[in-house]
Amino acid sequence: MKKYLHIIMCMLMVSVLSYGQEKSIEQKIETMLSKMTVREKVGQLNQLDGRGMHGSIAELKELVRKGEVGSLMNITDPNVVNEIQEVACKESVTGIPLIFTRDVVHGFKTMLPIPLGQAATFNPDIVKGGARVAAIEATEHGIRWAFAPMIDITRDARWGRIAESFGEDTYLTAEMAVAVVKGFQGENLAHPQSMAACLKHFIGYGATEGGRDYNATYIPERQLREVHMPPFQIAIDAGAASVMTSFNDNDGTPISGNKHLLRDILRNEWNFDGVVLSDWGSVTEMIKHGFAEDRKHAAEIAIKAGIDMEMSSKSFIQYLEKLIDEGRVAGTILDDAVRNVLRLKYRLGLFEQPYTDIQKPTETYASHHLEIAKKMAEESVVLLKNDNHTLPLSTEIKSILITGPLADAPHDQLGTWTMDGEPETTQTPAKAIAAMYGNDVNVHVVPSLMYSRDRNQVRFEEVLYAARSVDAVVVFVGEEAILSGEAHSLAGLHLQGAQSELIKVLKTTGKPLVTIVMAGRPLTIGKEIEQSDAVLYAWHPGTMGGPALADILFGKAIPSGKLPVTFPKEVGQIPIYYNHKNTGRPAKGDEKSLDEIPLNAKQSVLGHSSYYLDIGSKPLYPFGYGLSYTTFEYADLKILNEKLGKEDTLSITVKVKNTGLYDGTEIVQLYVTDLVGSVTRPVKELKAFERVNVKKGEEKTVSFIIPVADLAFWNMEMRKIVEPGKFKLTVGTNSETGIETYFEVV
Ligand code: BGC
Repeated sequence: MKKYLHIIMCMLMVSVLSYGQEKSIEQKIETMLSKMTVREKVGQLNQLDGRGMHGSIAELKELVRKGEVGSLMNITDPNVVNEIQEVACKESVTGIPLIFTRDVVHGFKTMLPIPLGQAATFNPDIVKGGARVAAIEATEHGIRWAFAPMIDITRDARWGRIAESFGEDTYLTAEMAVAVVKGFQGENLAHPQSMAACLKHFIGYGATEGGRDYNATYIPERQLREVHMPPFQIAIDAGAASVMTSFNDNDGTPISGNKHLLRDILRNEWNFDGVVLSDWGSVTEMIKHGFAEDRKHAAEIAIKAGIDMEMSSKSFIQYLEKLIDEGRVAGTILDDAVRNVLRLKYRLGLFEQPYTDIQKPTETYASHHLEIAKKMAEESVVLLKNDNHTLPLSTEIKSILITGPLADAPHDQLGTWTMDGEPETTQTPAKAIAAMYGNDVNVHVVPSLMYSRDRNQVRFEEVLYAARSVDAVVVFVGEEAILSGEAHSLAGLHLQGAQSELIKVLKTTGKPLVTIVMAGRPLTIGKEIEQSDAVLYAWHPGTMGGPALADILFGKAIPSGKLPVTFPKEVGQIPIYYNHKNTGRPAKGDEKSLDEIPLNAKQSVLGHSSYYLDIGSKPLYPFGYGLSYTTFEYADLKILNEKLGKEDTLSITVKVKNTGLYDGTEIVQLYVTDLVGSVTRPVKELKAFERVNVKKGEEKTVSFIIPVADLAFWNMEMRKIVEPGKFKLTVGTNSETGIETYFEVV
């Protein structure tokens, strides 16, 4: 009891202290605000780029001196950062420090796996650790504000930015969002190694029509609230310092001009008091959307809607003063935006410690940073297939061939948004395997295709010759980094260039064929998977991808990753996702395939259910799928209390046994189905997961505690409620396979 009293006292002290700090911040903001001219206030809302497009460093300094800049992007030389900061603090009209920002999307110098790969770890702890690494390296270079995490939910692999996302699931994305926020921001945002997070892109950008970037979206509010918004709200509750608006026009309103979303929901409902930043040019793009007449009108719409700071397009600095003079924008609206910006600067401790400590010994590329990057890469790899225990490579394998365009591609394995990643530091599989396992096996590295789009098959003969002389072949295929990311959508998701042909010819040798895919998105590679004996999906695994994959191939690390997104068989199935609605005619799974349909068949032979005649209803792989070198069996799923009230908590246990030959890690997934609702509910929803290490032969009991409140949904009246009724609970190894039980909310 004494111990608990002590903890409660400590917690009280902490909250009294932070209340005190926040109160004094608010007082400081008011004092500062009372001294500022309208022009100076507007200056705080202006974010410019430091790479030349908004002027030279000397010109930017002049603007800073005049108080016309609040934040600068993309300057990563800490000496330059300090120089400009000195101008802001000592020579500018306001003396207000700047915030320096950057897209720190998956690591700064030490590149981590792309976010989609990070999500495949189902390990928020390691994702948090990776974000900490990124913050330490970025803050060392003067960056105190990251344009990350990107937490758009997406169900469309054509969209190039799926690589930057945590995939299709709301719950998993929310877990990852919180992990990144905590990793970036640390215990205290004012610490010089803490970096403010920016949740992006609010909201719905991941549902861009046809997967084509910047396209319009049509997401009704219920779906916004159920699918797209929870990661934002949960990460804001966890302390996220800022939010970036998205490019999309949702149902007729570009988000940067949507007052209902930015003010009614984000500010008033969620009590968000951080900064709302527009995306690059998204304010003046409202002109092209056909929503604003000109730049002045765009500025008016955006500030009224709730944008605090404008990224890059300069309409605020150009027109806000005039708009206020003319009475088109109220001064109180401007003041509120400035308050939000100043609050972030105070919270970051910039008024006390505006400069980057360049004397501090560097931690960039520290061995523990590389270690986290390697571990994360290891955990992100998903084993899709492993026939005849091809993997791990047995000790009988004495020689291997390494080939394929991604085997030794230091730039490409880093993936999209690697602004500061340095390919010279990348450890590629070809190099790592030779260095780490070259004493145990003969490693032959023979180039075949020079890059993923390469169609030139001149080297195939030499590769075939080499393949015939080894005991196993490991081929690295996938996508160059440039094929995913912003503005890099694809209409086809097949392997580019002659990669498919490469796999086909390697298959003819009859040698065990291991295919490793490095890509920024799910690819439609059913045929290539069939031709391979084992397949590992490694996403773009970052700086340490090589050593991670080497250890997986040779069994020093056991794959544990699970797909954070459904893999379609064909592009035509998109959007395809596990938590869809059931329809009135769900597919039964035994529908006739195209080849089975008799000639001149009557309509009735086909059955009338929701599926595709040519490829059925199933994906290539479901959400949550991923094998291990060992196997797991689930049993004894128990719910402690099968009848619950709305305030209660579900207590669930399940036994997981390792029935295979290796120690391993299983990601135990828990899904809930609300069987009947006043609004139709998804066929299932992930509500919890747990990574469990189970030794071979061992059985573990895994427990879950789930508040009934987590089963709530938005009803017809747009109220979030839990409805009484029956629910199905499924626990298993992926979203399609599991053991079930039922409970009731009364
Ligand atoms: C992207 C943002 C990014 C910004 C700054 C925009 O084009 O949509 O995600 O943070 O550029 O680089």
